Amino acid sequence: MAKLEINSLRKEYDDVIAVDDLDISAEDGEFIVVVGPSGCGKSTSLNCVAGLITPTSGSIVLGEEEITNLRPQDRDIAMVFQNYALYPHMTVGENLRFALKMSTDMSSKERNERVDEIANLLHIDDLISQKPKELSGGQQQRVALGRAIVRKPGLFLMDEPLSNLDAKLRSEMRIEIQQLQKQIGTTTLYVTHDQTEAMTMGDRIAVMNEGVLQQIGTPLEIYNRPANRFVAGFIGEPSMNFFDVTKREKANGAIELQHDLFTHTIQTHKSELAETRDELTLGIRPNDIEVASADASNTVETEADVVEPMGDVDHVYFSHEDETYTASLAVEEHIRRSDSVVLSFPESRIYLFDRASGEAVAHPPERTSEAQIEQSR
Ligand code: ADP
Repeated sequence: MAKLEINSLRKEYDDVIAVDDLDISAEDGEFIVVVGPSGCGKSTSLNCVAGLITPTSGSIVLGEEEITNLRPQDRDIAMVFQNYALYPHMTVGENLRFALKMSTDMSSKERNERVDEIANLLHIDDLISQKPKELSGGQQQRVALGRAIVRKPGLFLMDEPLSNLDAKLRSEMRIEIQQLQKQIGTTTLYVTHDQTEAMTMGDRIAVMNEGVLQQIGTPLEIYNRPANRFVAGFIGEPSMNFFDVTKREKANGAIELQHDLFTHTIQTHKSELAETRDELTLGIRPNDIEVASADASNTVETEADVVEPMGDVDHVYFSHEDETYTASLAVEEHIRRSDSVVLSFPESRIYLFDRASGEAVAHPPERTSEAQIEQSR
């Protein structure tokens, strides 16, 4: 077990900066998920830590030791990949024992004992004499995890380990990996493009875009207080809706946010808004949009283009010019395709961003309940 520090890590290819001055510090035993869209530099960062890629500059420290220039096999790290990378000609037991033989000087008896212990922990005891091709995808991934765990390394690196599994197995394995990591307490850096994995698995989430770390924080911090529009749009499912609005201060001191579809009068955030430029972006999560009550203010009149029944809610899509927006509305509202609907955006659920820079200028009050986040999935 060890603390991991990634300091000003940079990786340049000819005309691409794959990773741009990345700083991440993981506490001993912490589970950090690095998340972002394809091409944002996640794998490059992970592979620099693993020693598979040489960084252009920056340093990586594991425990007390700087490992930036060590060979991969000299780092106290085990990696789990998307494609399992098991040896096909070896049985499950042999795969696990081989990992130990290559990385430790244990006796054969000690190796056997450790393999039994890990097989038991991962519930793969029954599979120990089988070859990888005889196993399901989930079982193979469990063996790949076992092979990483069996060495008891200082750090686990996991690169999209669940993306080859079907949805049900993926959600089971999410929980299993999380429990296992807490049980064995090994610092873990986990890379994924899947925001649900990030939200549910990480002690903290590092959100990257175009090689640059956008924000690092607990899932609730990232969800409640996204640093910028990119993070706000990336975390949360369905994604946050964004409306380009123009700020107008009225003679009576009220602030209006004007959009082609609506004018939103703002009562709160006056001090933050006094400082901002006029060109803003208003953000609202689909699950925060409501069907307007008769006396509601700040309403938006629109038409439902598509209604997707999700069982517990309906995802109602509406559009304006080239933009499509989503509202997650109670099924009891019985919204049908082509219905005219009057929606309201509760002021307490509004996010505001500077339109030019994307930086957040105002967040809604803190959400405290995990359940509220669950609702948005
Ligand atoms: P992610 O894992 O987030 O999908 P990567 O770390 O694989 O992203 O890639 C980050 C960026 O670096 C991308 O623009 C990718 O095209 C570029 N890149 C990655 N590897 C190489 C390489 N060997 N040569 C040139 N460009 C590369």
